[in-house]
Amino acid sequence: MTDAPLVPGQTIGILGGGQLGRMLAMAAARLGFRVHIYEPGAAPAAECAARVTHAAYDDIEALEAFARDVDIVTYEFENVPAEALDRIEALVPFRPNRRALAVSQDRLDEKTYLQEIGLQVAPFAPIDAGATDAAAQLAQGMAEVGTPAILKTRRLGYDGKGQARIDGPHDAQKALDAMDGAEAILEGFVEFRREISVIAARGTDDRIACFEPGENVHKDGILHTTTVPAGIDRATRERAFGIAGTILAALDYIGVLGVELFDTDAGLVVNEIAPRVHNSGHWTEAGAVIYQFEQHIRAIAGWPLVDPVRHSDVVMTNLIGDDLTQVPAISTETGARLHLYGKAEARPGRKMGHVTRVLRPAADR
Ligand code: AMP
Repeated sequence: MTDAPLVPGQTIGILGGGQLGRMLAMAAARLGFRVHIYEPGAAPAAECAARVTHAAYDDIEALEAFARDVDIVTYEFENVPAEALDRIEALVPFRPNRRALAVSQDRLDEKTYLQEIGLQVAPFAPIDAGATDAAAQLAQGMAEVGTPAILKTRRLGYDGKGQARIDGPHDAQKALDAMDGAEAILEGFVEFRREISVIAARGTDDRIACFEPGENVHKDGILHTTTVPAGIDRATRERAFGIAGTILAALDYIGVLGVELFDTDAGLVVNEIAPRVHNSGHWTEAGAVIYQFEQHIRAIAGWPLVDPVRHSDVVMTNLIGDDLTQVPAISTETGARLHLYGKAEARPGRKMGHVTRVLRPAADR
């Protein structure tokens, strides 16, 4: 592919076949693209794609065959191994770029980077839980960032996994044990009024388009609801847009990005970024003129972004595990947009679908 926009009929490769890959595939299909999914495990996205490769991320032959079949590669999750990317990038364009992936794969690199570009993050200190002096490192870290604090693995954590709260020295050893010898980061606990997120996109023409910030409530470490608009004032909203724009421009990013923020008395603090479509952006399907998945496909395909105007106030609720039993009742509700992921088994903690309830037409802001 050159830098020319993709045309319908060309093929988009997606690394990862979970629900995000599935919704990306549906959005791509709607714009007339073919989709090829690459997924080592179970793939709810498979039903919505023209082709699927079931292979591991270290299967070089499979990766190269995949890359040769597609015109561009994007991804639904940020933990794609670096060597897999080397193979793909040698053959086909890859968006969003590797820098965005590298920064978000490691919580320490991410916080360091965000701070470098002038954004506020929680106080933090690196802790190597596998080191012989791990306990001393943690004691020093606690002296620096204060307590309460949260010890998190640097890599591969999601939905609150690989995290341990520390209220004082008595929690230190247990928290270290929970890291299982991994490299970790100690974060000072941020006293926030609310958690919000901004879903934003940047196109190949450098244009940036931000969706209305949503207010997020978590349950057991997993996103439970996103309410839009968030209960923030105008200045905070503008600041949230500014933060998203700063990150997108600094990373020379193409595609949709999720930015999670803590709203505090001292302003907005960046919790983390996700270089992809994001669970807290699912509301856009029912509350905005364009939804995040189509915006992402447009961006990576080199198409113009759509001005992401919100037309309705909405609440998105994740359907996790047994919540699936609510589906018959939800299906009778007017104004409730149901989206199920087609997963075979409703295990506890597993995201099975979501419902976006349209509350009222959006008022001007
Ligand atoms: P994370 O996986 O880092 O997004 O953390 C999951 C959730 O834990 C966040 O959405 C917050 O509710 C909470 N959390 C994580 N880090 C902090 C922090 N430094 N201060 C306060 N709450 C946090």
